Amino acid sequence: MRRLLPLCISLAVFMHFSLPPGNVGQAAGPPPQTSKQDWSKAATLVREKIDAEIESLQALYQHLHANPELAFEEFKTSARMAKELTALGFQVTGNIGGLGVVGVLKNGAGPTILVRTDMDALPVTEKTGLPYASKLRTRDKEGNDVGVMHACGHDMHMTCWVGAARVLTQLKDRWQGTLVFIAQPAEEVGGGARRMLEDGLFKRFPRPDFCLALHCDSKTPHGHVAYNEGLLLANVDTIDITVRGKGGHGSAPHTTIDPIVLAARIILDLQTIVSREVDPTDAAVVTVGSIHGGTKHNIIPAEVKLQLTVRTLKDSVRKHVLEAIVRLAKAAAEGARAPEPTVRIEVDDFTPAVFNNAELAKKTTGVFRQVLGEGKVHNIGPIMGGEDFGRYGREGVPIFLYFLGTMKPEQVKAAKEGGPPLPSLHSDFYYPEMTPSIRSGVLMMSLAVLNLAGKD
Ligand SMILES: [Zn+2]
Ligand SMILES: [Zn+2]
Repeated sequence: MRRLLPLCISLAVFMHFSLPPGNVGQAAGPPPQTSKQDWSKAATLVREKIDAEIESLQALYQHLHANPELAFEEFKTSARMAKELTALGFQVTGNIGGLGVVGVLKNGAGPTILVRTDMDALPVTEKTGLPYASKLRTRDKEGNDVGVMHACGHDMHMTCWVGAARVLTQLKDRWQGTLVFIAQPAEEVGGGARRMLEDGLFKRFPRPDFCLALHCDSKTPHGHVAYNEGLLLANVDTIDITVRGKGGHGSAPHTTIDPIVLAARIILDLQTIVSREVDPTDAAVVTVGSIHGGTKHNIIPAEVKLQLTVRTLKDSVRKHVLEAIVRLAKAAAEGARAPEPTVRIEVDDFTPAVFNNAELAKKTTGVFRQVLGEGKVHNIGPIMGGEDFGRYGREGVPIFLYFLGTMKPEQVKAAKEGGPPLPSLHSDFYYPEMTPSIRSGVLMMSLAVLNLAGKD
């Protein structure tokens, strides 16, 4: 179970973790050199290996897609990932930070490269209509009966990760160094990377010189890649507010303190944080994603619960926004003569911003540009999504996370021209185009590793 901690403690934890923006992920590791090598031959070789593996990878993807598991419950999925790496000769250790899997493959002197996949699915009922769609149901942490779906594409991440491991073991004569392939649990709820690190990921196993990961993108055509040098994804905080009042009969509001009216006021007050308190040139989001209170038309309840997600790019803005939420909630309650509301931040859920190492991003996308073509590698700005891959960078290791295009090109084109909008990640309709996404995902990750550890 995830712990709930009062705001004061979580802010102290935050202060401990925070690093000045700009330093994050920029430390250590030899500076990568920009590649002048011709990558067409290596790409052809990798494509040949993918051709030989594609049927097996399609079957793996369909199996994973049809059998999703929620965060912290990735029992079968982690066992499968461990089995895949063991079959390739990796030295595999399970149960790192819960259900995390670490596979190490040593191949002479050279850099240590960590390649990460995540494994967890979401409490979403799939509506894609795919023949291999998930039909599974389970209980979420509140005990509700929910569908389970790989709506964030982590099944594709795992398939590309296994594919790259297979290709790289077959091409051992083309690179030198150590591979650390990790399958991380619980990305969606933010606890997986932190737990693996706390369990000694960088101490019990070779400390990486570079960390690589990909994430599916539902806005980019397959065969394309999107990325940013530097800041890519936001700080993400999850907050629960319990607004308290005094219950009573709906016909006698003067005998009560109505927490529904108070909650409505707090929600509107929270909108002034970004619009009135944060510098307009700094990005921030405060979203109230859930409000629950009351049972019946004519009963004023005693409490209302709000669930918030907060996104920020700078640590200083994060600190300000979190403090402002507490201040405004308390002030509104005081104005309404209500008891003090409880504001709790789930420390386990915090995911720090993903800050891509600029040199590593340049070096890796240099190869992508050669192989995919200049027009298919897009340098985008930071976006307000979140990913706990950022935690590996906060340990001082250069990291690079890029987005793998997964959509039909004609679908993306139609959406741009005002046609049907594309589903977002986490949508019950989202799915990657299987075969082309596997092909380009395995190709790009294999080349990214060869680029860092390849023999000249
Ligand atoms: Zn997700
Ligand atoms: Zn995801």
